[in-house]
Amino acid sequence: MWARQAEAALCTSSKKSREGKDKLSEQKHIEDSKILTIKEFEQGIREGKIEGYVCTDCHHKQIDIMDFCPICHGPNLKKTEFALEGKVLTYTIQFVAPEQFMNEVPYAWAIIELDDGPKVTGWIPFVSKSSELPADQRVRFKKSYLPGIVFEKIS
Ligand SMILES: [Zn+2]
Repeated sequence: MWARQAEAALCTSSKKSREGKDKLSEQKHIEDSKILTIKEFEQGIREGKIEGYVCTDCHHKQIDIMDFCPICHGPNLKKTEFALEGKVLTYTIQFVAPEQFMNEVPYAWAIIELDDGPKVTGWIPFVSKSSELPADQRVRFKKSYLPGIVFEKIS
């Protein structure tokens, strides 16, 4: 009799804590689906992640901060992590740089198409002439203390 009561009490309490957990994960889900901020994006870069959005309606992928899809104008965006490798689409070599890049010149300021589709603007150190960076050069995102999004050449 006592045991059964205790069991019943246990049951209720574990059910309660389960409900609590569900509520928590629901809340976390809402937090997760919040629009990515520039600060979060930069934080991700420091941690070695390239984050952005995928539109759940038309599957358009984009890195830039946005609050509706630029293709279908839908609001259903999902935060996601993108591939860390891609290829160089176009670039310019910088010999004169803003202050935060002053010690890095020359470098290539490049638009890179990541393997899963989205384009990102980043830079590739140690490039001083175009022969060092052929078209479609494969690159990999490099976690770095330097500003911006750093890529390095891979073969
Ligand atoms: Zn869309």
